[in-house]
Amino acid sequence: MPETMSATQALAMLPLPEFHTLSQDQTRGITCAFDGVGLSPATAVSLGERSLRRVGGRVSWFPRACRRCALEQAMNALVAHSQTCEQCVDDSNLCPTGSGLVRAVREARR
Ligand SMILES: [Zn+2]
Ligand SMILES: [Zn+2]
Repeated sequence: MPETMSATQALAMLPLPEFHTLSQDQTRGITCAFDGVGLSPATAVSLGERSLRRVGGRVSWFPRACRRCALEQAMNALVAHSQTCEQCVDDSNLCPTGSGLVRAVREARR
């Protein structure tokens, strides 16, 4: 466990829809990985580098999301995490995952 987690690292942890359910534009980060909305540099939130197990090795892909979906997903992850994390009940600033997800929510909201 790292001591701290950046918004970028937390966003790269968010669960995504199954790869095979996504369109080619979604897997290339051209549209939102969650709802397929077209993205522009101003609205896109990077979800980090993801890797996919394929026959013959791993393939990297770089999904992106619109701000609305990124915010929703980060909020969901934060709520789900804080319900099961004793450290967060105590003080979420001391929890790398909890504070990382708070940063991710802020990043998506900008
Ligand atoms: Zn979206
Ligand atoms: Zn926590």
